Amino acid sequence: MPVELYNTLTKRREEFKPMAPGKVGIYSCGPTVYSHPHIGNFRSFLVADLLKRFFEFKGLKVTHIMNITDVGHLVDDADEGADKLEETARKEKKDPLEIARFYTESFMTASKLLNIKPADVYPKATEHIQEMIDMVKTLVDKGYAYVVGGNIYYDVTKFANYGRLSGNTLDDLNAGARIELNPEKKNPQDFALWKHDPKHLQQWDSPWGRGFPGWHIECSAMSSKYLGAQFDIHTGGEDNIFPHHECEIAQAEGASGKKFVHYWLHTRFLLFDGEKMSKSKGNLYTIQELIEKGFKKNAIRYALISSHYRQNYNFTFDGLKAAAQAIDKIQQCVFQLKDISKNKESGQVRKELQELSSNCLAQFDEALSDDLNISKALAVCFDFLREVNKVDDANSTEANALLDTIGKIDSVLGVLEKADEEVPAQIIEMAEKRKEAKANKDWKTADAMRDEITAKGWILEDTPGGGYRIKRGGQD
Ligand SMILES: [Zn+2]
Repeated sequence: MPVELYNTLTKRREEFKPMAPGKVGIYSCGPTVYSHPHIGNFRSFLVADLLKRFFEFKGLKVTHIMNITDVGHLVDDADEGADKLEETARKEKKDPLEIARFYTESFMTASKLLNIKPADVYPKATEHIQEMIDMVKTLVDKGYAYVVGGNIYYDVTKFANYGRLSGNTLDDLNAGARIELNPEKKNPQDFALWKHDPKHLQQWDSPWGRGFPGWHIECSAMSSKYLGAQFDIHTGGEDNIFPHHECEIAQAEGASGKKFVHYWLHTRFLLFDGEKMSKSKGNLYTIQELIEKGFKKNAIRYALISSHYRQNYNFTFDGLKAAAQAIDKIQQCVFQLKDISKNKESGQVRKELQELSSNCLAQFDEALSDDLNISKALAVCFDFLREVNKVDDANSTEANALLDTIGKIDSVLGVLEKADEEVPAQIIEMAEKRKEAKANKDWKTADAMRDEITAKGWILEDTPGGGYRIKRGGQD
């Protein structure tokens, strides 16, 4: 089934055709590591994860690169204000690299909690200064950029397609320019590729003297290094469209003379309780904060992926509770099937059950191929579970086949607990002892075993088939 995606560059849905058959290259703008990433940042990272998992579900080999910005991202996203990282470094009286290490760790921890598949490479800006200098040099040589003192600017009038991604024309931009014209710039919209600032805490030698790179050049240089001058998909939040991605295109295409990216995917903002998220409103929750509040990590994941990426998603605590209930429905079905798989005989898989699975997977594929229509995909999943719950007298082979289908769906959703596999041997031993005691009507021992399991942080539940399931207690 062909996949259709909405391409911000062409402003329409297009069939996705990878450059190399069976392979997809994706670059995602990663975090600027100057503070803990919040749920709004993670919505965009999760859309990239969903897309990647879906391509893998379809059998494509994905190469995913996500950068870590640890220098050059200024407060206004363009050429004004302090470097975000440096601001935190000064505030916390630490070295910028120490700040970067700390918040990169925080980002990685939260990504893991949300079951985001790791990127193949997480290139750091500070470790790719030479690649950026090389690209800036090429742009100067080709006449796209000019040097003023120790600063290098990109001359936007030299790049005919400037504004194509964001829909901003230079005339519009110039008319609405808020900032006073920097006397060094030939045009108000020219942007810095390399900056000279003796006060900046992070500096490197360059052919133009000591300085540091602009934020935009990082992504052009690093994506080209790991995915080539041309690649399939670039993702980011809607706030990245302008100026960041517009500038990335101008730089990369100016330097290589080739089309940079074929499909641009942008995730809309997250609202919190109907309001825009902001520091001043105090609603920039981090993943760790939500977990401390008692919400489950997989419910947070489910909530953040459960609405279409091109619509604003209104994040609420009630939404998180509903997400936990939805996951529980899938989980219950899995436990029942596992019970059958353990306790029933093997046999033939009935034709109607084979069809139930193949139809479900085909419809799930169709839904996500429709520009990642996640609501439709989730509806397919719950329709399937409803049918599975109606199945009478399944044998263990059938249960395994149905489990396999749920496993394929969850390879994309990534919300099911893996606690089953992680139960320590000691806990299983106690559960078995309890089962035996129950069979012998030794209720005292049975209760004692259950209490001990609970005390060790696990929850034991009896299942209708006469078995039990163990899951981790608390919010893990
Ligand atoms: Zn970027």
